[in-house]
Formats: sequence, C-alpha cells, structure tokens
Amino acid sequence: MRKYVIMGVQGSGKGTQSQILAADLDLVHISVGDIFRWNVQNHTKLGALVRRTMAAGELVGDDLVESVVRDRLTQHDWNFGFIVDGFPRNRPQAEFFLESYDIDGVIVLDLPDSEVRRRVLNRRVCPACGINYNLIDSTPKVPGQCDSCGAQLVTREDDTEEALAVRLHDYHEKTDPVIELFRRKEYVFNVDARSAPEVVQEQIRKSLALPPAGARTAGDPGAAGA
Ligand code: AMP
Repeated sequence: MRKYVIMGVQGSGKGTQSQILAADLDLVHISVGDIFRWNVQNHTKLGALVRRTMAAGELVGDDLVESVVRDRLTQHDWNFGFIVDGFPRNRPQAEFFLESYDIDGVIVLDLPDSEVRRRVLNRRVCPACGINYNLIDSTPKVPGQCDSCGAQLVTREDDTEEALAVRLHDYHEKTDPVIELFRRKEYVFNVDARSAPEVVQEQIRKSLALPPAGARTAGDPGAAGA
C-alpha cells in the first residue's frame, strides 16, 4: 500500500506525473481539480457551487474540498494505494488529511514562477479526453485538434493572466507553509519540474525508491503491494 501526495504550482505537471505513476503502480489518482472540472462540465450542483471560484483562480472552501476528498477516499477502491494531486493546499486541509491518513511520501514539483506563466498561458486541453497540450513544446499534430480523439482543444477557464496571479499568490502564501509542515515529518522530496516529463518521472521514482517506469512485472509483490 502506497500513499503519496504530489504538490506543485499550476502547470508544474502534477497531473501528468501522477497519471504515469498511478497507471504503473495501480494507484488511484485523486485530483480535486479534475473532480471539480468534471462537475462543472456536467452541470452538477457541486459544479455550480465551484465554477466561479475556479474561474477566478481562487481556492474553493475547505469544507467542500474536504468532503470531496473524504467521499472519494471512502470508496476504498485503492487496494494498492493512492496519489493525491492538488490537495492539501493550505494548513487546515493538511491537518484534516493528516488526522485521517498516514502518508508515505510527498513529492514537490519545483518550477519558477516565470516558467509557470509560460506553460500555463500556452496550455490547451482536450475537453473530451482531458489530454494537455502546450503550444510551445507539445503541440498537437493538427493545430487546435486533439491528437487522440480529434476534438477541438480549449483553454482552461482559469488559465488567464488574472487567475494565474491569484493562484500563484495563494500557492506561495498558503501552500508553501504546508510543504514546510510536511518537511518536518521528513518525507518531502523536491523534484526539478523544468525537465522533460520522462526525466521528471525518473527523478520522482528515484526519490521514492521505486523501480524505473515500466520495470514492474505482473505479480511483482514489491511493485504494488507492501
Ligand atoms: P488544479 O487543477 O489543482 O489547479 O485545481 C483547479 C482549481 O480547483 C483551483 O484553482 C481551485 O479553484 C480548485 N481546487 C482544487 N484543489 C483545491 C484545494 N485543495 N483547495 C481549494 N480549491 C481547490
């Protein structure tokens, strides 16, 4: 059983890195942002509650966030563990989380603000399959179209200069102290997120003492269990 948290500013690649790790180790990937976005896209009651807050780049209230995380984790479909992405983002959320779950490792993806701006403002997303593109270094083959399903790519509603400024400010003010809180427990691993995704993934695995990507074989007890 492995329980990880991945933290980092917007655009640092949390989603991409978590998905690779989760797929390879059979972990459940829990992204609070993805859960909210799904609810907004599907016009649910929860989506209506969070839409404006998200578009402005602000943090959703702790009670709502905590109930989403609690509901997701009580599904207990994480036999081999989970990787939580984008949570906790402030001290109350961290305290709530630590009261209920013990964590094996916290990965912090480090990216300078200037690089965050460059990545986020050039990010495009497929609304159908969720794949992220970047107009600088991972462009779609046909401009504006998803390579996988052909859908028209969109800009995330919160990938604007204004919303990004709010998110960066919140990150440094509220999330940086959470990293320090975790650091005192000595299981924080900082990884340089400026490198290519596969290099970042290797660094994450080295930090967590995991085998290289794809090295796991079926039935390997060291890979998914224990
Ligand atoms: P993300 O995809 O992690 O960047 O999250 C997108 C948006 O969802 C954030 O800008 C917030 O509005 C909201 N959100 C996601 N996770 C949290 C959280 N842990 N606390 C508060 N708001 C969150």
